Amino acid sequence: MPRREAITGERRQVAADVRKAYAELAARPVTRNCALRAECCQFLLTGKTPYLTKGEALVGAQALKATGRRALPVREDGACPLLDPVSAKCLIYDSRPFGCRTHFCPAAGGPYPRRDVADLIHKLEEIARRLGGSEARPLAAAIQEFLG
Ligand code: SF4
Repeated sequence: MPRREAITGERRQVAADVRKAYAELAARPVTRNCALRAECCQFLLTGKTPYLTKGEALVGAQALKATGRRALPVREDGACPLLDPVSAKCLIYDSRPFGCRTHFCPAAGGPYPRRDVADLIHKLEEIARRLGGSEARPLAAAIQEFLG
């Protein structure tokens, strides 16, 4: 199989496996109440930025491309570049990274206990190794890699 096709096929499988991990998380009985306030998307104010594994970054980049964009939007206010300044909603909410699903937002119920999601974190790290590395990176840099 030509190398390009092989890469495309592997990425398709990686994206499917990341989405499966997200679905597994959603099926867990930890009560969450994300009301889309987007307070946790204000990185400058919270002082916290989600870190993404390569698989999560791939899924995020694919979701952004699906909105018709080819580059990360620029934010001057230190908020997440994926937070739409017009709607104040996440541009990739259904594909948002793991950290955005298990975050620290007190209004949504606080962080998931690590013991409840450690297996999924390890799974995402394993998936990332198939793309050449398991080290998580800050959201913008991680997604940028798959927008080129
Ligand atoms: S990816 Fe979406 S949910 Fe996560 S911080 Fe950015 S705008 Fe918020």
